[in-house]
Order: sequence, then C-alpha cells, then structure tokens
Amino acid sequence: MGSFKLGGMTFGSLFKKPETLLYPMQTKTPYPQQKGHIVNAVDECILCGMCARVCPCHCITVDKKGRMWEIDPFSCVLCGSCVRACPTKCLSMDGSSTPVTAQKHAVDLAVPDKKASANA
Ligand code: SF4
Ligand code: SF4
Repeated sequence: MGSFKLGGMTFGSLFKKPETLLYPMQTKTPYPQQKGHIVNAVDECILCGMCARVCPCHCITVDKKGRMWEIDPFSCVLCGSCVRACPTKCLSMDGSSTPVTAQKHAVDLAVPDKKASANA
C-alpha cells in the first residue's frame, strides 16, 4: 500500500464515526439469536436437574433440598444444551453479554416453592 493511500486513510478516519465502542459503557444491540448468557425464569423451574446433567462444562448446580439453582457464567460455553433439555422451558439464552464484573462469581437463584405458597 502506498504511503499516499495510507495517509489518505489516516486523514479520512479523523472525520469518520469510530468503528469501535467504549465497552462496557457502550454496547451493541444484540443481533437476533445472538448467544449472550443463560437466564432462568425460576418461577417455572421444577429443580429437576436436567440442565445440570446435560451441561458439558458442569457449570450448573441444582440444589433441590435448598431450592437453589446456580450457574457459573464464566465457565459456560453457550452451547444451549441446557435450554434444549429444560422440560419446563424456563431456561433461555439472552442475547446480551454476561454483565461485566471485576471478579468471577456464580449466579445463585432461589427457586420459589409454589406448592408451599399455595397451601399457606
Ligand atoms: S449453555 Fe451449555 S455450557 Fe452453558 S450452562 Fe447451558 S449446557 Fe452448560
Ligand atoms: S432443566 Fe429447567 S426445570 Fe429442570 S432444573 Fe434446570 S432450569 Fe430447572
């Protein structure tokens, strides 16, 4: 590439909109079916453990007794196996990326006991 052409490109970029975003302050709108992170609509979760059994990365833990569902989003490879296996369809893939954090952490979700609250 000639230095004249390169200089023209450099000079031209001074007047163009930047190609990059100031992530995480600015984010791109996810495109349809983008794989971002797993979300669980816990009200529909029956703690069957199917998602944990099919996960190839062992990043889901289901504690039926303690009524807790946990995922390590930093180990998830976004394969979607848990979403496909969930019998109640409470798992879904959100298009937005895993929220930015300074420290890796698991996401713990308390699963409400519908039977107990109906009997109360
Ligand atoms: S998307 Fe794949 S890797 Fe991620 S939690 Fe589900 S089964 Fe595991
Ligand atoms: S497969 Fe679905 S219903 Fe079963 S424990 Fe996982 S999220 Fe809950």
